[in-house]
Amino acid sequence: MARKKSAIPRALVLPPAGRLRQFRRKLLDWFRARQRALPWRATHDPYRIWISEVMLQQTRVAAVLPYYRRFLARFPNVRALARAPEPDVLEAWAGLGYYSRARNLQRAAQEIVRKHRSRFPRTLEDALALPGVGRYTAAAVLSIAFDAPLAVLDGNVARVLARLAALRGDVRQPAVWRRLQSAAEHLLPPTPRATPGTPGAWNQAMMELGATVCTPRAPACRECPVANFCRARSMGLQEQIPEKRAKRTPVDVRLAAAVLLDPLRRTLLVRPEGGASRDLFSRMWQFPAVEVGSGAERELRRHLRDSLALDAAECVPLRAARHTVTFRRVTLLPFLVPVEKLPEARRAAPAESTHIALAEVERWPTSSATRKIARAAIRGGQAAFRFPR
Ligand code: SF4
Repeated sequence: MARKKSAIPRALVLPPAGRLRQFRRKLLDWFRARQRALPWRATHDPYRIWISEVMLQQTRVAAVLPYYRRFLARFPNVRALARAPEPDVLEAWAGLGYYSRARNLQRAAQEIVRKHRSRFPRTLEDALALPGVGRYTAAAVLSIAFDAPLAVLDGNVARVLARLAALRGDVRQPAVWRRLQSAAEHLLPPTPRATPGTPGAWNQAMMELGATVCTPRAPACRECPVANFCRARSMGLQEQIPEKRAKRTPVDVRLAAAVLLDPLRRTLLVRPEGGASRDLFSRMWQFPAVEVGSGAERELRRHLRDSLALDAAECVPLRAARHTVTFRRVTLLPFLVPVEKLPEARRAAPAESTHIALAEVERWPTSSATRKIARAAIRGGQAAFRFPR
């Protein structure tokens, strides 16, 4: 795969051509000696590398390890993942959060089986056409599995590059990110398997440096193999670069949820097609819920009437819980709603629904917000629970 010659942004000062070879050797020697032994580094299987890369987005290595092992034991190859029922995939993912990643993984696996004879595509174009596969994931999988000359740029690499070049500004700004991408390509060793290393090893070395030495706070510059090339360090700016991102103003959201409970202690979970609460529950099974203002109980009763044709005789407030989803600070307001009979379960849009024992909710593919509500209902419901006569 030929690499396009990348333009080096004029303002980005990186090791000059004469010192590039030395820079690469220092980093690769360090990586070979110091890299953490991680299961996805012991393989060139693109499927396993892909799973690790998707799990590692937004999640720390230590937290990913047990999930990675369990997931691969359950879905050892792309065909197994493609044909698994979606709830099984979500269940294996439960706890990692951001469930859209798991859904996209499975959709992409199905596409790989259908269009690529069950083999992860080898070209950037085909990899990018898969659901949920962006530039970073494609470059990581293709370079590590097939030595494709593609530079990765994630948060760790961006921080290292910004410090090496003493680059000011918010690295997440699209224009800055593009310059960093050019810089990452400029640093990538020129041809696969050329001395001193391969694109896969190089990319992992850059990410490892960012994850273990050039950390967001208090970078360990004394242990850094490329400290002599670092402009931020020479200027004493390693703690100020990259500049902190302006935080989005948090938005407060109040969400009332109904835990319907029948005499057999079964409840109703729904999966509506739309509605403001869907993203807050990661588009998974959830209790019937609605965003409310100051009259939580009244608005929830109205929602139950409109969506389930249910006139609740009783709505017992349970202990509220806090939940944060990106910039939204959610106050969860659960209500226990005793019923003689749950509304019919439905298998179709606009709102799929199902009956399940309340005690089982924690074991279902649900978001952490739903599990918080279930726990509040189990704890608080014991005392308050009374059936209508
Ligand atoms: Fe990062 Fe310090 Fe190394 Fe510069 S010298 S790349 S700031 S760890």
